[in-house]
Amino acid sequence: MKRFILRQPADLGDALGILHEQGLNARPLAGGTDIVVGVMRDQLVGKGMPYPGELVDLTTVPSLAGVRVDDGGCAIGATTTLVDIVEHADLARFWPMLVEAAAAVATPEIRSIATLGGNIHQRPRCWFFRNKDFDCIKKGGEVCYAVKGDNRYNAIVGGHLCYIVHPSDLAVALLALGANARVASKDAERVVAFDDYFVSPRENLQAETVLRPDEILTEVRVPYASPGTFHAFEKFNDKGLPTWDFAQVSVAVAAHVVDGVWQSGRIVLGGVAPVPYRATVVEEALDGKDIDGALVEACAAFRTVTRPMSHNDYKVDLAVVVLERAIRKALERPSTPTGES
Ligand SMILES: Cc1cc2nc3c(=O)[nH]c(=O)nc-3n(C[C@H](O)[C@H](O)[C@H](O)COP(=O)(O)OP(=O)(O)OC[C@H]3O[C@@H](n4cnc5c(N)ncnc54)[C@H](O)[C@@H]3O)c2cc1C
Ligand code: SF4
Repeated sequence: MKRFILRQPADLGDALGILHEQGLNARPLAGGTDIVVGVMRDQLVGKGMPYPGELVDLTTVPSLAGVRVDDGGCAIGATTTLVDIVEHADLARFWPMLVEAAAAVATPEIRSIATLGGNIHQRPRCWFFRNKDFDCIKKGGEVCYAVKGDNRYNAIVGGHLCYIVHPSDLAVALLALGANARVASKDAERVVAFDDYFVSPRENLQAETVLRPDEILTEVRVPYASPGTFHAFEKFNDKGLPTWDFAQVSVAVAAHVVDGVWQSGRIVLGGVAPVPYRATVVEEALDGKDIDGALVEACAAFRTVTRPMSHNDYKVDLAVVVLERAIRKALERPSTPTGES
């Protein structure tokens, strides 16, 4: 670990001022479970990713923490910890899928420190990216080492020059829930739908989101479910458990179903693509159909969009199974309460 300056701003204006002034030399710090314990400890640097000279501690800014529930839905501050999400009674009642996803992250110890904003913005886990001896394309080098190397955990869809998978469980759930991100810089604020928040290597090889270096996520806003919506989050990893490790495949479902017939919905996969991947091919195959009869074929339609690498075609089969499980799980439950119930 190299030396760095820790800045502890008292309010949001101070934090944004430092980021504005310092550019990439200063990076936001939340729980530190990725930026300090991973990226900086391992001295990962590259294009668009200098070793930070300063860390701006967002947890000293009181306005960034906490959950508010109102008529429009919920607003969750960026430094709210994953434990605070898991233990929040209103979130469990109205957004159970979000709570399931938060509960599936890592370990209890990590969840007690890790924050919503940090989970969404954690860097990819590709082991070549995480190893300072591999100067791959994403870090400004010439080669993607995953193409010829051990790519068992890499992308099966949507890769281009770089084949990372997006590591965040919460990002998958938020996209399925139709959530929005509130983002601030020193001079402006904007709201970005999570539909438009994550960027693929084709759009930007160095970054995973639309955030500029002087911006931070301040809060996430999640709308209530509409009546007759069924939610579920399902995850599979190497340990065969829902927690303790990153997803090889995860699926978040928000389905509007009437009398067993799929009306509309969002199906999002984690662990398969450089961004949380919306499986419109499966949504379209279910559209207007009796789910019981159409499910197996609809989930199999996911195969048609995949392009596995040399060691990860197992993930295609796995994704089809996890898709089926997640949709069945959603339908076995009562529909999610709306804000009016
Ligand atoms: C053993 C282990 C297992 C794990 N398993 C899982 C898993 O199963 N699922 C999963 O999803 N994750 C998993 N993780 C990753 C873990 O969830 C993340 O490390 C954690 O969520 C990051 O949160 P943090 O608050 O500590 O972020 P930090 O480490 O403080 O920050 C992470 C990144 O986000 C940026 N950042 C932080 N807050 C903001 C903000 N408000 N706006 C803009 N940028 C911001 C930082 O600059 C940094 O680049 C695992 C990690 C470990 C070590
Ligand atoms: S998948 Fe991306 S991060 Fe991993 S080695 Fe290839 S270019 Fe680097």
